[in-house]
Amino acid sequence: MHMKVPLLDLKAQYATIKDEIDAAVAAVFESQYFINGPEVTACEEAVAAYANCVAGVGVSSGTDALLLALMVEGIGAGDEVITVPYTFFATAGSIARTGARPVFVDIDPLTFNMDVEQVEAAITGKTKAIMPVHLYGQVANMERIVEIAEKHGLVVIEDGAQAIGAERKGCRAGSMGDYGTFSFFPSKNLGGAGDGGMVVTQSEAKAERLRIFRNHGSDPKYYHPFIGGNFRLDALQAAVVRVKLRHLDAWTQARQANAARYDSLFSDAGLAGGPVRLPKHPGTVGGRTDCSCRHIFNQYVLRCDRRDALRAHLAEAGIGTEIYYPVPMHLQACFADLGYGEGAFPESETAAKETVAIPIYPELSEEQARAVVDAFKAFYP
Ligand SMILES: *Cc1c(COP(=O)(O)O)cnc(C)c1O
Repeated sequence: MHMKVPLLDLKAQYATIKDEIDAAVAAVFESQYFINGPEVTACEEAVAAYANCVAGVGVSSGTDALLLALMVEGIGAGDEVITVPYTFFATAGSIARTGARPVFVDIDPLTFNMDVEQVEAAITGKTKAIMPVHLYGQVANMERIVEIAEKHGLVVIEDGAQAIGAERKGCRAGSMGDYGTFSFFPSKNLGGAGDGGMVVTQSEAKAERLRIFRNHGSDPKYYHPFIGGNFRLDALQAAVVRVKLRHLDAWTQARQANAARYDSLFSDAGLAGGPVRLPKHPGTVGGRTDCSCRHIFNQYVLRCDRRDALRAHLAEAGIGTEIYYPVPMHLQACFADLGYGEGAFPESETAAKETVAIPIYPELSEEQARAVVDAFKAFYP
């Protein structure tokens, strides 16, 4: 009886682009050029242009993109990097892996992004960088973050893993900080066929350092002025990403239309503003408003009463959901020695308890969206 609605349906997407993907993959096999090379360069140029950046450096994952940006800046033991606790682990994990200390500031409850009012109080003599996250596909308040960074001489690394093509005041994610990072993890809006990522920048000099560090810090080959690593992007991933990039704007429009549809379905059902709080975003249809912001809806995340019971009910009804993220970083076991306790970041903790992501992928049909909202209605009669 139930209509199954998965959280994400990559098979539905592949079906629409199978011929293009298969041809691109076959061409890489024909070339037997698997590491760096023309396919990777073409992908870097295309993604950098899409992000309105001067250069892109393909890397092995969105996680390694963050780590690489920190490494080329020489950030390590004794340094501090300001970020948010309400994010995917890689944001804080990359900082800690350099030996630096992640210093958290809470999120703005409306956008789930960094509360910029709290940043300056977190700056100390050890602060080297600010790492905002553009969560769920909506850009953080970058004009304020860049202003604070310039005043205090700090580097800005935008974690844009969920936000390729998103805009704030006409500026694209990744183009406003010193570095922007993207992930090509398959569930991201621009996903590869495995792991991959990219660092974008407005500085050719920074791009050159990124290229050196992603290849063991060698310059020239077998001579090592730096200790880098193997953070390279596969040609196969680059080929898949380059095909998908051609479809990304159409997929983004479909995600925005799905979000607008949910907004009205939840309102019509009388749930919005009651047991269900809709995500705040700057106008949905077309994704543009007077502030020229563009939300790309990597996720459509609701705050809900009795979230865990709701989620069990939705699972029963065949509706896929996920919690991004159930435990904020300051409460993770591995970060206990940072010394933050329960209550340190109340907005992040509340969000972790209330939020649920529902299916928003581009191929989601109207019938499926209605089935999702009907399942909510059945739970909150
Ligand atoms: C996915 C993600 C990453 C990590 O990307 P990977 O390619 O999976 O390593 C980093 N930050 C955020 C916010 C993410 O969503």
